Amino acid sequence: MSRKLLIAGNWKMNGLLADGVALAKGVAGEVKALGKTDLEFLVCPPFTLLTSVKKALRGAKVALGAQDCHFAVKGAHTGDISPAMLKDVGCAYVILGHSERRADHKESSELINKKSVAAYEQGLKAIICIGETEAERDAGKTIDVCAKQILGSVPDNATAANTVIAYEPVWAIGTGKTPTSKDVQEVHAAIRKVLAKKLGKGNANKMRILYGGSVKPSNAKEFLSLEDVDGALIGGASLKVEDFLGIAKAVK
Ligand code: PEP
Repeated sequence: MSRKLLIAGNWKMNGLLADGVALAKGVAGEVKALGKTDLEFLVCPPFTLLTSVKKALRGAKVALGAQDCHFAVKGAHTGDISPAMLKDVGCAYVILGHSERRADHKESSELINKKSVAAYEQGLKAIICIGETEAERDAGKTIDVCAKQILGSVPDNATAANTVIAYEPVWAIGTGKTPTSKDVQEVHAAIRKVLAKKLGKGNANKMRILYGGSVKPSNAKEFLSLEDVDGALIGGASLKVEDFLGIAKAVK
């Protein structure tokens, strides 16, 4: 089953206007220079940079995504951003249920499910994040935790066309620590099995499952060449053009 590898950058809460535009221009230039590739590129800047980054990416095959959204189309939700607003400024994707949102904002799988449905309704693709904490891993619960998060967070109408899963062990995010490639393949294969039960084999076989957690140019090939790994969600290394593109070049 061939699934197009997705190289996705999560800029998190980083970048003022000038930094964001410079980074986006750098990524756009390098992606153009890379020429024809089988990879799909995506950057997810903070809300404040979406419009300027969209402009800076003009002419380059790099999609735009956001890092969260509300489940309502509009209304009395001070401080929130709706999926319709994201679509309006040119987003194709939205990251939902990142572990930092699950932890910092107490987001439940049920809420992430609602947000995903709302994203689909606006034609956005949801990147639904799951992953275990270090304590859960040490207790041997990784696969159970991921299965529970998938069953709760992934809507019944998710398809390979509207959803990407990102497996991100919480303890590997921003720490420089990573699971072994054997562990990653095992978890991704288990995730695909759960998806098959929930959404049918056809969707599960076509759905992309990204690995995220301290991916960098030097370890990208190890993870991205695994059978059930279909790309990477990249935090820290997405903030430097040479690292973000270095990851792509390592697997091109
Ligand atoms: C992330 O937060 O999605 C992430 C994977 O971060 P990092 O690459 O910095 O570990």
